[in-house]
Amino acid sequence: MQACVITLGCQMNEYDTHAIQSQLAGIGYSFVDNIHDADLVLLNTCAVRGKPVEKARSILGALRKEKRRRPVTVGLMGCLAQLPEGQVMGAQFGVDFMLGPGALTDLIPALQQKGFTSFAFKDELRDYAPPPPQGVLSAHVAITRGCNHKCTYCIVPTTRGPEVSRPAADILREVEALRAAGVVEVNLLGQNVNSYGLEPGLGPHRKLLPGFPSFAELLRMVGQLGLPRVRFITSHPINFTDDIIAAIAETPAVCRYIHLPVQAGSNRTLRRMAREYTREYYLERIAAIRSQLPDATISTDIICGFPGETEEDFEETLTLYDAVRFDMAFMFIYSERAGTPAAKHFDDIPHATKVARLMRLIERQKYWSLQQYRRWVGQTVEVLVKGPAHEANLMQGHTRGNHTVVVPNTTAPRPGLYSVRIAHATPHMLYAEGAAVPEGGFVTTAVLN
Ligand code: SF4
Repeated sequence: MQACVITLGCQMNEYDTHAIQSQLAGIGYSFVDNIHDADLVLLNTCAVRGKPVEKARSILGALRKEKRRRPVTVGLMGCLAQLPEGQVMGAQFGVDFMLGPGALTDLIPALQQKGFTSFAFKDELRDYAPPPPQGVLSAHVAITRGCNHKCTYCIVPTTRGPEVSRPAADILREVEALRAAGVVEVNLLGQNVNSYGLEPGLGPHRKLLPGFPSFAELLRMVGQLGLPRVRFITSHPINFTDDIIAAIAETPAVCRYIHLPVQAGSNRTLRRMAREYTREYYLERIAAIRSQLPDATISTDIICGFPGETEEDFEETLTLYDAVRFDMAFMFIYSERAGTPAAKHFDDIPHATKVARLMRLIERQKYWSLQQYRRWVGQTVEVLVKGPAHEANLMQGHTRGNHTVVVPNTTAPRPGLYSVRIAHATPHMLYAEGAAVPEGGFVTTAVLN
Protein backbone atom coordinates (compact mmCIF):
# COMPACT_ATOMS: atom_id res chain seq x y z
CA MET A 1 0.00 0.00 0.00
CA GLN A 2 1.34 3.40 -1.00
CA ALA A 3 0.39 6.78 0.46
CA CYS A 4 1.11 10.33 -0.64
CA VAL A 5 0.82 13.01 2.07
CA ILE A 6 0.74 16.58 0.74
CA THR A 7 1.57 19.30 3.29
CA LEU A 8 0.54 22.94 2.96
CA GLY A 9 1.35 25.65 5.50
CA CYS A 10 3.43 25.99 8.63
CA GLN A 11 6.00 23.98 10.58
CA MET A 12 3.24 22.63 12.85
CA ASN A 13 1.67 21.08 9.76
CA GLU A 14 5.04 19.56 8.81
CA TYR A 15 5.20 18.06 12.30
CA ASP A 16 1.62 16.78 11.98
CA THR A 17 2.48 15.25 8.60
CA HIS A 18 5.28 13.32 10.25
CA ALA A 19 2.75 12.12 12.88
CA ILE A 20 0.37 11.08 10.05
CA GLN A 21 3.13 9.21 8.22
CA SER A 22 4.21 7.46 11.40
CA GLN A 23 0.67 6.12 11.93
CA LEU A 24 0.45 4.98 8.31
CA ALA A 25 3.88 3.32 8.43
CA GLY A 26 2.64 1.41 11.50
CA ILE A 27 -0.07 -0.26 9.41
CA GLY A 28 2.18 -1.07 6.48
CA TYR A 29 2.11 1.95 4.16
CA SER A 30 5.14 3.13 2.22
CA PHE A 31 5.32 6.64 0.77
CA VAL A 32 5.42 8.17 -2.70
CA ASP A 33 5.61 11.81 -3.85
CA ASN A 34 3.24 11.42 -6.78
CA ILE A 35 -0.55 11.22 -6.38
CA HIS A 36 -0.75 8.99 -9.49
CA ASP A 37 1.22 6.22 -7.72
CA ALA A 38 -0.71 6.38 -4.42
CA ASP A 39 -3.56 4.21 -3.08
CA LEU A 40 -4.17 6.85 -0.42
CA VAL A 41 -3.71 10.63 -0.72
CA LEU A 42 -3.92 12.84 2.37
CA LEU A 43 -4.01 16.60 2.00
CA ASN A 44 -2.81 18.33 5.20
CA THR A 45 -4.14 21.85 4.68
CA CYS A 46 -3.58 25.41 5.88
CA ALA A 47 -6.34 28.02 6.21
CA VAL A 48 -4.41 31.03 7.46
CA ARG A 49 -4.49 32.92 4.15
CA GLY A 50 -6.39 32.77 0.89
CA LYS A 51 -3.48 31.38 -1.14
CA PRO A 52 -3.13 27.96 0.59
CA VAL A 53 -6.92 27.56 0.52
CA GLU A 54 -6.91 28.07 -3.25
CA LYS A 55 -3.99 25.65 -3.55
CA ALA A 56 -6.00 23.03 -1.61
CA ARG A 57 -8.96 23.58 -3.94
CA SER A 58 -6.78 23.05 -6.98
CA ILE A 59 -5.21 19.84 -5.55
CA LEU A 60 -8.68 18.51 -4.62
CA GLY A 61 -9.76 19.17 -8.22
CA ALA A 62 -6.84 17.07 -9.51
CA LEU A 63 -7.67 14.34 -6.98
CA ARG A 64 -11.33 14.25 -8.07
CA LYS A 65 -10.12 13.54 -11.64
CA GLU A 66 -7.81 10.84 -10.31
CA LYS A 67 -10.68 9.23 -8.37
CA ARG A 68 -12.76 9.08 -11.57
CA ARG A 69 -9.92 7.24 -13.31
CA ARG A 70 -9.09 4.62 -10.66
CA PRO A 71 -9.79 3.65 -7.02
CA VAL A 72 -7.91 5.96 -4.65
CA THR A 73 -8.82 7.03 -1.11
CA VAL A 74 -8.59 10.77 -0.40
CA GLY A 75 -8.58 12.40 3.05
CA LEU A 76 -8.85 16.12 3.77
CA MET A 77 -6.93 16.99 6.95
CA GLY A 78 -5.53 20.04 8.73
CA CYS A 79 -6.92 23.50 9.45
CA LEU A 80 -9.15 23.80 6.37
CA ALA A 81 -10.96 20.58 7.31
CA GLN A 82 -11.92 22.20 10.62
CA LEU A 83 -13.79 25.06 8.92
CA PRO A 84 -17.25 25.04 7.28
CA GLU A 85 -15.54 26.35 4.11
CA GLY A 86 -13.32 23.25 4.00
CA GLN A 87 -16.12 20.85 4.84
CA VAL A 88 -18.17 22.21 1.91
CA MET A 89 -15.10 21.86 -0.30
CA GLY A 90 -14.52 18.28 0.87
CA ALA A 91 -18.11 17.32 0.03
CA GLN A 92 -17.94 19.12 -3.33
CA PHE A 93 -14.78 17.27 -4.37
CA GLY A 94 -15.93 13.90 -3.01
CA VAL A 95 -13.22 13.25 -0.42
CA ASP A 96 -13.58 10.01 1.54
CA PHE A 97 -13.01 11.42 5.01
CA MET A 98 -12.12 14.62 6.84
CA LEU A 99 -10.12 15.12 10.03
CA GLY A 100 -9.41 18.40 11.79
CA PRO A 101 -5.93 19.12 13.24
CA GLY A 102 -7.08 18.14 16.75
CA ALA A 103 -8.19 14.70 15.56
CA LEU A 104 -4.95 13.28 14.09
CA THR A 105 -5.20 10.21 16.28
CA ASP A 106 -8.48 9.29 14.54
CA LEU A 107 -6.65 8.52 11.31
CA ILE A 108 -6.80 4.73 11.48
CA PRO A 109 -10.59 4.59 12.20
CA ALA A 110 -11.08 7.14 9.41
CA LEU A 111 -9.29 4.86 6.94
CA GLN A 112 -11.48 1.93 7.95
CA GLN A 113 -14.70 3.85 7.66
CA LYS A 114 -15.31 6.03 4.61
CA GLY A 115 -17.42 9.11 5.25
CA PHE A 116 -15.79 9.40 8.69
CA THR A 117 -15.34 12.93 10.00
CA SER A 118 -13.82 14.14 13.24
CA PHE A 119 -13.31 17.72 14.24
CA ALA A 120 -13.17 17.28 18.02
CA PHE A 121 -9.97 18.34 19.78
CA LYS A 122 -8.75 15.03 21.22
CA ASP A 123 -7.14 14.86 24.67
CA GLU A 124 -4.74 12.10 23.62
CA LEU A 125 -3.14 14.41 21.04
CA ARG A 126 -1.54 16.30 23.94
CA ASP A 127 0.55 13.23 24.72
CA TYR A 128 1.04 12.03 21.15
CA ALA A 129 4.71 11.79 20.15
CA PRO A 130 5.61 10.49 16.70
CA PRO A 131 8.72 8.28 16.53
CA PRO A 132 11.89 10.13 15.41
CA PRO A 133 12.23 10.73 11.67
CA GLN A 134 15.18 8.82 10.20
CA GLY A 135 18.18 10.39 8.50
CA VAL A 136 17.43 14.05 9.30
CA LEU A 137 19.59 16.55 11.18
CA SER A 138 16.82 18.96 12.13
CA ALA A 139 13.39 18.09 13.56
CA HIS A 140 10.33 19.75 15.10
CA VAL A 141 8.80 18.96 18.50
CA ALA A 142 5.36 20.35 19.39
CA ILE A 143 5.28 21.71 22.94
CA THR A 144 1.90 23.46 22.79
CA ARG A 145 -1.09 23.17 20.50
CA GLY A 146 -3.83 25.72 19.87
CA CYS A 147 -4.05 29.36 20.88
CA ASN A 148 -5.98 31.37 23.48
CA HIS A 149 -5.42 34.74 21.80
CA LYS A 150 -8.08 36.35 19.70
CA CYS A 151 -6.19 38.35 17.08
CA THR A 152 -8.99 39.68 14.92
CA TYR A 153 -7.43 38.63 11.59
CA CYS A 154 -6.57 35.06 12.63
CA ILE A 155 -8.47 31.82 12.10
CA VAL A 156 -6.04 29.64 14.11
CA PRO A 157 -7.97 29.69 17.43
CA THR A 158 -10.97 28.31 15.49
CA THR A 159 -9.02 25.68 13.58
CA ARG A 160 -6.64 24.54 16.32
CA GLY A 161 -8.71 25.18 19.44
CA PRO A 162 -7.60 26.51 22.84
CA GLU A 163 -4.00 26.30 23.96
CA VAL A 164 -2.85 23.01 25.48
CA SER A 165 0.68 22.33 26.78
CA ARG A 166 2.25 18.89 26.47
CA PRO A 167 3.72 17.41 29.66
CA ALA A 168 7.41 18.28 29.98
CA ALA A 169 8.40 14.62 30.51
CA ASP A 170 6.90 13.70 27.09
CA ILE A 171 8.72 16.57 25.39
CA LEU A 172 12.05 15.65 26.98
CA ARG A 173 11.57 11.99 26.01
CA GLU A 174 10.84 12.96 22.42
CA VAL A 175 13.87 15.28 22.23
CA GLU A 176 16.07 12.57 23.74
CA ALA A 177 14.85 10.07 21.11
CA LEU A 178 15.63 12.59 18.36
CA ARG A 179 19.14 13.11 19.72
CA ALA A 180 19.69 9.36 19.82
CA ALA A 181 18.51 9.17 16.17
CA GLY A 182 21.22 11.64 15.08
CA VAL A 183 19.24 14.90 15.08
CA VAL A 184 21.43 17.92 15.94
CA GLU A 185 18.76 20.66 15.92
CA VAL A 186 15.28 20.64 17.46
CA ASN A 187 12.72 23.34 16.90
CA LEU A 188 10.20 23.60 19.75
CA LEU A 189 6.87 24.45 18.16
CA GLY A 190 3.67 26.11 19.26
CA GLN A 191 1.34 28.91 18.22
CA ASN A 192 2.69 30.76 21.27
CA VAL A 193 5.53 28.79 22.87
CA ASN A 194 6.12 31.45 25.55
CA SER A 195 2.86 30.59 27.28
CA TYR A 196 3.92 26.95 27.68
CA GLY A 197 2.71 25.56 31.02
CA LEU A 198 0.52 28.55 31.86
CA GLU A 199 -3.01 28.25 33.17
CA PRO A 200 -5.87 29.01 30.75
CA GLY A 201 -6.41 32.67 30.00
CA LEU A 202 -4.57 35.59 28.48
CA GLY A 203 -2.17 38.33 29.46
CA PRO A 204 1.30 38.68 30.99
CA HIS A 205 0.41 37.53 34.54
CA ARG A 206 -0.87 33.97 34.08
CA LYS A 207 0.22 31.45 36.72
CA LEU A 208 1.80 28.09 35.97
CA LEU A 209 -0.35 24.96 35.82
CA PRO A 210 0.41 22.49 38.65
CA GLY A 211 3.33 20.25 37.70
CA PHE A 212 4.39 22.27 34.64
CA PRO A 213 7.67 24.18 34.28
CA SER A 214 7.65 27.61 32.65
CA PHE A 215 8.84 27.98 29.06
CA ALA A 216 12.13 29.42 30.37
CA GLU A 217 12.61 26.35 32.59
CA LEU A 218 11.72 24.04 29.70
CA LEU A 219 14.34 25.75 27.52
CA ARG A 220 16.95 25.15 30.21
CA MET A 221 15.91 21.47 30.51
CA VAL A 222 15.95 20.81 26.76
CA GLY A 223 19.23 22.72 26.50
CA GLN A 224 20.88 20.22 28.86
CA LEU A 225 20.07 17.14 26.76
CA GLY A 226 23.23 17.37 24.67
CA LEU A 227 21.82 18.64 21.37
CA PRO A 228 24.00 21.28 19.72
CA ARG A 229 21.01 23.43 18.73
CA VAL A 230 17.63 24.18 20.29
CA ARG A 231 15.25 26.62 18.58
CA PHE A 232 11.70 27.70 19.28
CA ILE A 233 8.90 29.32 17.34
CA THR A 234 6.50 31.25 17.55
CA SER A 235 6.62 33.83 20.33
CA HIS A 236 3.99 36.34 21.39
CA PRO A 237 5.39 39.64 22.73
CA ILE A 238 3.00 39.70 25.69
CA ASN A 239 4.52 36.52 27.18
CA PHE A 240 8.15 37.14 26.16
CA THR A 241 9.43 37.63 29.70
CA ASP A 242 12.83 38.59 31.10
CA ASP A 243 13.10 35.04 32.43
CA ILE A 244 12.96 33.67 28.87
CA ILE A 245 15.66 36.13 27.77
CA ALA A 246 17.82 35.02 30.74
CA ALA A 247 17.28 31.32 29.86
CA ILE A 248 18.45 31.95 26.29
CA ALA A 249 21.49 33.88 27.55
CA GLU A 250 22.44 31.14 30.06
CA THR A 251 21.86 28.07 27.87
CA PRO A 252 24.56 27.66 25.19
CA ALA A 253 22.52 25.18 23.13
CA VAL A 254 19.63 27.62 22.68
CA CYS A 255 20.08 29.52 19.43
CA ARG A 256 19.93 33.30 19.70
CA TYR A 257 17.24 33.62 17.09
CA ILE A 258 14.04 35.29 18.22
CA HIS A 259 11.03 35.51 15.96
CA LEU A 260 8.78 38.06 17.62
CA PRO A 261 5.77 38.92 15.44
CA VAL A 262 4.77 42.57 15.82
CA GLN A 263 2.19 42.67 12.98
CA ALA A 264 1.89 46.51 12.93
CA GLY A 265 3.68 49.59 14.22
CA SER A 266 0.70 51.76 15.14
CA ASN A 267 -1.17 51.44 18.41
CA ARG A 268 -4.46 52.07 16.64
CA THR A 269 -3.92 49.11 14.32
CA LEU A 270 -2.56 46.90 17.12
CA ARG A 271 -5.72 47.64 19.12
CA ARG A 272 -7.95 46.78 16.16
CA MET A 273 -5.94 43.58 15.68
CA ALA A 274 -6.44 42.79 19.43
CA ARG A 275 -2.72 42.09 19.80
CA GLU A 276 -2.81 42.94 23.56
CA TYR A 277 0.36 45.10 23.52
CA THR A 278 1.36 48.56 22.39
CA ARG A 279 4.15 49.73 20.15
CA GLU A 280 5.94 51.01 23.27
CA TYR A 281 5.64 47.62 25.03
CA TYR A 282 7.02 45.84 21.96
CA LEU A 283 9.97 48.24 21.70
CA GLU A 284 10.68 47.78 25.41
CA ARG A 285 10.83 43.96 24.87
CA ILE A 286 13.23 44.47 21.96
CA ALA A 287 15.43 46.70 24.15
CA ALA A 288 15.45 44.00 26.86
CA ILE A 289 16.51 41.36 24.28
CA ARG A 290 19.23 43.57 22.83
CA SER A 291 20.65 44.42 26.27
CA GLN A 292 20.98 40.73 27.30
CA LEU A 293 21.61 39.19 23.88
CA PRO A 294 23.40 41.81 21.76
CA ASP A 295 24.23 39.28 19.01
CA ALA A 296 20.66 37.90 18.72
CA THR A 297 18.93 37.76 15.37
CA ILE A 298 15.45 39.25 15.56
CA SER A 299 12.79 38.63 12.93
CA THR A 300 9.13 39.49 12.74
CA ASP A 301 5.82 39.08 10.92
CA ILE A 302 4.04 42.10 9.50
CA ILE A 303 0.55 42.40 8.09
CA CYS A 304 0.37 45.23 5.63
CA GLY A 305 -2.93 46.92 4.77
CA PHE A 306 -5.01 45.68 7.70
CA PRO A 307 -8.58 47.05 7.29
CA GLY A 308 -8.72 50.70 8.28
CA GLU A 309 -4.91 51.15 8.25
CA THR A 310 -4.30 54.81 7.40
CA GLU A 311 -1.20 56.27 5.78
CA GLU A 312 -0.19 57.55 9.25
CA ASP A 313 -0.61 54.06 10.74
CA PHE A 314 1.54 52.61 7.99
CA GLU A 315 4.23 55.27 8.50
CA GLU A 316 4.41 54.11 12.12
CA THR A 317 5.19 50.58 10.91
CA LEU A 318 8.05 52.04 8.85
CA THR A 319 9.41 53.95 11.85
CA LEU A 320 9.15 50.80 13.96
CA TYR A 321 11.28 49.04 11.33
CA ASP A 322 13.90 51.76 11.78
CA ALA A 323 13.73 51.52 15.57
CA VAL A 324 14.13 47.72 15.70
CA ARG A 325 16.33 47.05 12.63
CA PHE A 326 14.98 43.52 12.09
CA ASP A 327 17.36 41.01 10.51
CA MET A 328 14.46 39.44 8.63
CA ALA A 329 10.75 40.06 8.22
CA PHE A 330 7.96 37.90 6.85
CA MET A 331 5.69 40.45 5.21
CA PHE A 332 2.12 39.71 4.20
CA ILE A 333 -0.66 41.80 2.81
CA TYR A 334 -3.88 41.41 4.75
CA SER A 335 -6.06 38.64 3.37
CA GLU A 336 -9.60 38.43 4.70
CA ARG A 337 -10.51 35.11 6.33
CA ALA A 338 -14.19 34.28 6.64
CA GLY A 339 -15.14 33.67 10.28
CA THR A 340 -12.61 36.09 11.79
CA PRO A 341 -13.74 39.26 13.63
CA ALA A 342 -11.82 41.47 11.18
CA ALA A 343 -13.80 40.06 8.24
CA LYS A 344 -17.06 40.64 10.12
CA HIS A 345 -16.51 44.10 11.49
CA PHE A 346 -13.99 46.06 9.44
CA ASP A 347 -14.01 47.32 5.85
CA ASP A 348 -11.11 46.18 3.74
CA ILE A 349 -8.84 48.68 1.98
CA PRO A 350 -8.04 48.64 -1.78
CA HIS A 351 -5.71 45.88 -2.94
CA ALA A 352 -3.52 48.37 -4.85
CA THR A 353 -2.96 50.36 -1.64
CA LYS A 354 -1.96 47.19 0.22
CA VAL A 355 0.49 46.20 -2.50
CA ALA A 356 2.04 49.68 -2.70
CA ARG A 357 2.61 49.67 1.07
CA LEU A 358 4.07 46.17 0.95
CA MET A 359 6.58 47.28 -1.69
CA ARG A 360 7.69 50.17 0.52
CA LEU A 361 8.08 47.79 3.46
CA ILE A 362 10.15 45.39 1.39
CA GLU A 363 12.50 48.20 0.39
CA ARG A 364 12.89 49.28 4.01
CA GLN A 365 13.49 45.68 5.16
CA LYS A 366 15.99 45.11 2.39
CA TYR A 367 18.00 48.06 3.71
CA TRP A 368 17.99 46.84 7.32
CA SER A 369 18.64 43.19 6.40
CA LEU A 370 21.76 44.24 4.51
CA GLN A 371 23.02 46.28 7.49
CA GLN A 372 22.41 43.36 9.85
CA TYR A 373 23.81 40.66 7.56
CA ARG A 374 26.99 42.70 6.99
CA ARG A 375 27.76 42.41 10.73
CA TRP A 376 28.75 38.80 10.06
CA VAL A 377 31.25 39.46 7.27
CA GLY A 378 34.73 38.47 8.44
CA GLN A 379 33.37 36.38 11.32
CA THR A 380 33.59 32.60 11.72
CA VAL A 381 30.14 31.08 12.30
CA GLU A 382 28.59 27.66 12.81
CA VAL A 383 26.45 26.52 9.88
CA LEU A 384 24.11 23.54 9.83
CA VAL A 385 24.40 22.48 6.20
CA LYS A 386 21.26 20.64 5.12
CA GLY A 387 21.85 19.97 1.40
CA PRO A 388 22.73 21.35 -2.04
CA ALA A 389 21.98 24.99 -2.90
CA HIS A 390 20.33 25.92 -6.22
CA GLU A 391 23.69 26.95 -7.66
CA ALA A 392 26.21 24.33 -8.81
CA ASN A 393 28.97 23.29 -6.40
CA LEU A 394 27.35 25.01 -3.41
CA MET A 395 25.70 23.63 -0.30
CA GLN A 396 23.17 25.54 1.79
CA GLY A 397 22.49 25.80 5.50
CA HIS A 398 21.64 28.10 8.39
CA THR A 399 23.60 29.86 11.09
CA ARG A 400 22.51 29.69 14.71
CA GLY A 401 20.84 33.05 14.00
CA ASN A 402 18.86 31.47 11.13
CA HIS A 403 20.65 33.33 8.34
CA THR A 404 20.80 31.32 5.14
CA VAL A 405 24.43 30.61 4.18
CA VAL A 406 25.88 29.11 1.03
CA VAL A 407 29.11 27.16 1.39
CA PRO A 408 31.35 25.61 -1.31
CA ASN A 409 30.85 21.85 -1.51
CA THR A 410 34.59 21.45 -1.11
CA THR A 411 34.23 22.95 2.39
CA ALA A 412 30.98 21.12 3.23
CA PRO A 413 30.76 17.97 1.09
CA ARG A 414 27.79 16.53 3.01
CA PRO A 415 25.07 17.69 5.45
CA GLY A 416 26.30 18.46 8.97
CA LEU A 417 27.67 21.16 11.25
CA TYR A 418 30.56 23.23 9.89
CA SER A 419 32.53 26.25 10.99
CA VAL A 420 32.92 28.72 8.12
CA ARG A 421 34.18 32.26 7.64
CA ILE A 422 31.69 34.67 6.09
CA ALA A 423 33.09 36.56 3.10
CA HIS A 424 30.04 38.39 1.63
CA ALA A 425 26.53 39.44 2.60
CA THR A 426 23.45 40.35 0.62
CA PRO A 427 20.09 41.32 2.16
CA HIS A 428 18.96 37.71 2.20
CA MET A 429 22.07 35.52 2.18
CA LEU A 430 25.51 35.08 3.68
CA TYR A 431 28.32 33.67 1.55
CA ALA A 432 31.06 31.57 3.11
CA GLU A 433 34.62 31.99 1.89
CA GLY A 434 35.01 30.48 -1.57
CA ALA A 435 31.31 30.84 -2.52
CA ALA A 436 30.92 33.27 -5.41
CA VAL A 437 28.07 35.77 -5.14
CA PRO A 438 25.76 35.18 -8.12
CA GLU A 439 24.23 37.99 -10.15
CA GLY A 440 20.60 38.62 -9.23
CA GLY A 441 18.16 40.60 -7.17
CA PHE A 442 16.83 40.48 -3.68
CA VAL A 443 14.62 37.49 -3.00
CA THR A 444 11.85 38.57 -0.65
CA THR A 445 9.81 36.47 1.71
CA ALA A 446 6.77 38.70 1.16
CA VAL A 447 3.58 36.92 0.17
CA LEU A 448 1.19 38.53 -2.27
CA ASN A 449 -2.25 37.02 -1.97
S1 SF4 B 1 -1.39 34.70 18.72
FE1 SF4 B 1 -2.89 35.69 17.37
S2 SF4 B 1 -1.95 35.43 15.31
FE2 SF4 B 1 -0.93 33.93 16.65
S3 SF4 B 1 -2.13 32.03 16.39
FE3 SF4 B 1 -2.97 33.13 18.18
S4 SF4 B 1 -4.69 34.34 17.39
FE4 SF4 B 1 -3.41 33.73 15.63
